[in-house]
Amino acid sequence: MSTYRVNELFYSLQGEGRYAGTPAVFVRLSGCNLACSFCDTQHQTWQHMTCRQIVEAVGLHPARTVIITGGEPALQLDAELTTALHEAGYTIHLETNGTLPLKPGVEIDWITCSPKDGPALQIQHIDELKVLFRGEDVSGFLSVPAREYRLQPLDTGDPERNKEIVKQTVNYILNHPKWNLSLQTHKILNVR
Ligand code: SF4
Repeated sequence: MSTYRVNELFYSLQGEGRYAGTPAVFVRLSGCNLACSFCDTQHQTWQHMTCRQIVEAVGLHPARTVIITGGEPALQLDAELTTALHEAGYTIHLETNGTLPLKPGVEIDWITCSPKDGPALQIQHIDELKVLFRGEDVSGFLSVPAREYRLQPLDTGDPERNKEIVKQTVNYILNHPKWNLSLQTHKILNVR
């Protein structure tokens, strides 16, 4: 039986992308294979949990959607956990940087890939490609096969720069309508 290094498990609304506003249980797995300069996710600490403990902890909340995130969840995620969650009746979403292949037998209902500078994408399937935008030409990402393409203004931590990036993002999408906007609504709403 596998154990997983779980950074946190909490109940909230999905803040970003296609399913923004959807109530879901977040399972944040610890550790990442990248070290992005803008990373604002605290994922380095963990407690060990078994598959059964995770499913039980998820079951304390009423939603039927589980979002597995990180760090980079593909480092740990395996078929034991996705099978157990599916058997318990959950829809599984994954948030990944896409630079690692999913392990054999891992089944996910919705994969959001947010590519970062660095290694090439290796994930086998992408539903939603969500690119963090800071004004550059992102047309090359449209060659990545995905069902939907979203641009999300990068949060630089500088309010003035952020305002400029939001304007650039909107203008870019208006001129390149294959893209849709993703906002970090949890930050706007000040929820977790
Ligand atoms: S891939 Fe995501 S979690 Fe990993 S370092 Fe980059 S921003 Fe942070």
